[in-house]
Amino acid sequence: MFRPPLIPILILSVVLAGCSTTRQTLPSFPPNVVIIFADDLGYGDLSCYGNPTTRTPHLDQMAAEGMKLTQFYVASPVCSPSRAALLTGCYPKRVGMEKHVIFPQYDYGLHPDEITIADLLRERGYATACFGKWHLGHRPGLLPLDQGFDEFLGVPYSNDMSRFHRKPGDKYPHALPLIRGNDVVQWEPDQHLLTKVLTEGAVEFIDRNHDRPFFVYLPHPMPHIPIYASKEFEGQSPRGLYGDVIEEIDWSVGEIRAALERHGIANNTLVIFTSDNGPWLPFKEHGGSAGPLRGGKGSNWEGGQREPCIVWWPGHVPAGVVSTEIVTALDLLPTMAALTGSEWAGDQPIDGRNMRSVLLDEPNRTDEDRALEDSHFLFYTSRGELAGIRRGPWKLLLANDELYHVESDISEQWNVAQANGALVEELREIALRHDAEITRLARPVLQVDTPPWEWPADRSK
Ligand code: MG
Repeated sequence: MFRPPLIPILILSVVLAGCSTTRQTLPSFPPNVVIIFADDLGYGDLSCYGNPTTRTPHLDQMAAEGMKLTQFYVASPVCSPSRAALLTGCYPKRVGMEKHVIFPQYDYGLHPDEITIADLLRERGYATACFGKWHLGHRPGLLPLDQGFDEFLGVPYSNDMSRFHRKPGDKYPHALPLIRGNDVVQWEPDQHLLTKVLTEGAVEFIDRNHDRPFFVYLPHPMPHIPIYASKEFEGQSPRGLYGDVIEEIDWSVGEIRAALERHGIANNTLVIFTSDNGPWLPFKEHGGSAGPLRGGKGSNWEGGQREPCIVWWPGHVPAGVVSTEIVTALDLLPTMAALTGSEWAGDQPIDGRNMRSVLLDEPNRTDEDRALEDSHFLFYTSRGELAGIRRGPWKLLLANDELYHVESDISEQWNVAQANGALVEELREIALRHDAEITRLARPVLQVDTPPWEWPADRSK
């Protein structure tokens, strides 16, 4: 009788056991998903990304226990297009949302026919909720409840679109509502309390839904100017008020984590922390820091679109990994689909890639994974015009023919276009061709004729 040698079988078993821990099979209970999305927070604003004075112990711990991405991009240097891309996995232009931010007087928004992460996960049986700043259209018919969310508490647009923060040249009398579901529950809420109230909403939602899969989208309105912290945080940070605001957001991360641990679901919850665009530099100490990166909000320099991104899922995302892979906000939807076993119901093209193998730090990349390494990322201006392309270590900015090797020149100081003429032409050709395809297949936003909410009578004050 043939007796297989014992040692190879043991080795094989160990290898297989090793595989089952590195390449996790999906649990029967799909993982909860929490996306925490700061507003205008820069690449250099967190302690774990090198800030010397801002204390972010909870985020630092998440990074130490999970993955810190150093080349994570959002799809636009301003709010609304960046949010549209995060939730749909599409370049803003593909879904008609590339033309700068949505102002209170606007009557359009992201088309509800687009499939958002919330749609995807709700279809999979998740409870879904958004706590924070929406900014993808705010007339009735365009709010989170029209886009796959079961619940919404937050503000419909930026916190400076308020009657207390009119700027010289503002033509319209803006007013900021706090909305629950589809209804205004308060006009001009106390902004000192926004971070706290939204965090409490998210924790209460987790408490209510801990025994079923859930998706929490927590897009903080802070640290977008005007910045506010609650009195527990005001005056505490060595960095001043901006530091107070970041430290309160860090507290919020700690509260979410504590809720997950209280219910024993931390190891079945994927948490991602990032921001919609870079720091608003003209506001000086009230704007954030892009650290070593050039530029900030509104620009296509790295400071406008490269963001901190921390991914935490104990037992699945390995601890303490710093990943230099290029990952973008476009990739979150297809990656969430893969990690949660969700059926993709869309028949329209999207732009994101499934980055599961990167986030789980799987050592054996498939052919499909390796193909990702040849892919590229397009930059668009805050007004939606094609601005540049990143492929491998190279970044080409089209307007002035600037080529940077951003892996050795993170601050974009040395334009090496002249010495690399053939590469410049190759990248330009790829960018123009891809943009033409997106333009040709671009889908419409939804314009509605529903009236806005009844504005408060004293809105012009
Ligand atoms: Mg923003």
